[in-house]
Amino acid sequence: MTIFPRYGKGRSIKAGFKRKCPSCEQGKIFDGYLKLKEKCPHCTAPIGEIRADDFPPYLTILIVGHIVVPLLVFVEVSYHPSTLFQMILWPAVALTLSLSLLPVLKGAVVGFMWSLGMKGDEQH
Ligand SMILES: [Zn+2]
Repeated sequence: MTIFPRYGKGRSIKAGFKRKCPSCEQGKIFDGYLKLKEKCPHCTAPIGEIRADDFPPYLTILIVGHIVVPLLVFVEVSYHPSTLFQMILWPAVALTLSLSLLPVLKGAVVGFMWSLGMKGDEQH
């Protein structure tokens, strides 16, 4: 059985942010937009076993909400743009931010879980 290196949380999360393998920091971990590769193409670490589940979307909603809502209130109070303009702008901003952050945050969560030796199938 091969032993793959596990670095500290910060280093693993940083590798995950870059969507790279938290073990070798070289191989790309995603096969497409969000699907994890079964194994790292560079070091064969079994990253596909890690189940991040709902945590990346939760973090995405948390961050996007804390960016979009204050911005929306600021723009409304300061500039009073038309309702139609806002009905087009804010969903587009929220969608763009969400789709941009989700894979990055999923990578970070996978890196964090890798550093802790978690797979996401642990029973309490
Ligand atoms: Zn690797």
